[in-house]
Amino acid sequence: MLTLKCPYCGVQADETELSPGGEAHLTRHGPGSDDDAFESYLFMRRNPRGPHFERWRHAMGCGKWFHAARDTATMQVFGTYSAQTTESPQTILDAIRAVNPDFQYGAAE
Ligand SMILES: [Zn+2]
Repeated sequence: MLTLKCPYCGVQADETELSPGGEAHLTRHGPGSDDDAFESYLFMRRNPRGPHFERWRHAMGCGKWFHAARDTATMQVFGTYSAQTTESPQTILDAIRAVNPDFQYGAAE
């Protein structure tokens, strides 16, 4: 079972208390952007085997959205952090690189 620590209220919440929100750190493209960028924003998502950044909501707790970094193959959680950050904190990236030395943030998986 997946357990994530809510960075706002500090509760170790299991997945039954959380709602998934898809991939984190998407670049938003509105209706005024070109068709390829808008289509990519709407439909294209990474689905890596390994480290991944996701959005989660503490639905049965404080109700706030946050980001989590976890390995999709091993279920190892590298950390959680505020949804108001545009990039993963260095401490999270260091935790990922301790296990996956070749990991590149933002690189195609
Ligand atoms: Zn919470």
